Amino acid sequence: NWDLILYVNLELVNKMSNRRFIVKEMLGQGTFGQVVKCLDTETNDYVAVKVIKNQPAFYHQAIMEVSLLRMLNQKYDPDDQHNIVRMLDYLSFQNHLCIAFEMLGQNLYELLKRNHLRGLKLKYVQAFSKQILDAMVVMRDAGIIHCDLKPENILLAPSVTTAAAVKVIDFGSACLEGKTVYSYIQSRYYRSPEVLLGYPGQPPDDLLREAKNTVRFFKHVGSIYPGNETPTGLTTAYRILSEEEVEARESKSPKMGKWYFPHRTLDKLIYSYPWNNPELTETEKNDRLALVDFLKGLLEFDPNKRWSPMQALYHPFITGEPFTGPYEPVPETARIPVARAAAIDHNPGGGHWL
Ligand code: ADP
Ligand code: MG
Repeated sequence: NWDLILYVNLELVNKMSNRRFIVKEMLGQGTFGQVVKCLDTETNDYVAVKVIKNQPAFYHQAIMEVSLLRMLNQKYDPDDQHNIVRMLDYLSFQNHLCIAFEMLGQNLYELLKRNHLRGLKLKYVQAFSKQILDAMVVMRDAGIIHCDLKPENILLAPSVTTAAAVKVIDFGSACLEGKTVYSYIQSRYYRSPEVLLGYPGQPPDDLLREAKNTVRFFKHVGSIYPGNETPTGLTTAYRILSEEEVEARESKSPKMGKWYFPHRTLDKLIYSYPWNNPELTETEKNDRLALVDFLKGLLEFDPNKRWSPMQALYHPFITGEPFTGPYEPVPETARIPVARAAAIDHNPGGGHWL
């Protein structure tokens, strides 16, 4: 009963910290507990408070979330420039760990649903991908693997300018590189092949999840197709990717490669694309070719060949540079030329989201 749950939380959170937080509404609910929108009476700001269930397993996992996020916020992103949610405070109340976050907007899954899963405009996919990759670069520097990057955990950020901005939230499944037994982690839909098949010693890869996010943005989409063209391409690509994963998981076959054909799928997409459509401008053609190349790189099967987030960040799809052929990333160790670094600073401005 929703009202009852809200009532219980009202009781709980209003008691917290001498009634410092007044519960206004429910924002989300999961296995860990609940997220409620509260008025912080000390600052008069709205905050999002994640109230963790009062059971030891959840409590300890949440302590991990707090410590990883504190490290990210304070040490790796002190000026709040890398699209990672800010943690404002945390406290323990009757064995419930309560974590206060800055108040953000809708999550991207809700946004997609609002548009009947027809996908987002290309410029938002570009901007959001850039921002998420930027957050991933910082996480990698910190040695943190998010492990649950998906549209539900990417929130629209209220923006001071008219720029479209998102932030990565939910470090409730995150872990430190090399300090975890990587077994049953990641939402199934987004698992990388090496985690699905349990390749020994392979940490999970957030980049692959980001690729699937990008594909998901185009689910049922028109965005890649002009006008009323039948949008089968990426929908099919997406479905095949999901099916391949399910089969791979069930087969547990060492010949896993045969189940994983994103490149073939993407090639099909190129062939089926109506390139001769007169409505298509050169820029639109360029963007779509760049997108397909971008996805191919992100979906690379071999984790050793897959781009790093930093390398993906300099792909023409993200920088907006003309696409002249398959992307050759600079080695991770090479310094990024200043001109290229400047090029990624675009944002799509305001306007309609969908
Ligand atoms: P879970 O571990 O259950 O996924 P999350 O931290 O992802 O918990 O929060 C669950 C949901 O609550 C999110 O998908 C989002 O809709 C909402 N939420 C979480 N944090 C915030 C926030 N800072 N601002 C607004 N909504 C939030
Ligand atoms: Mg979540």
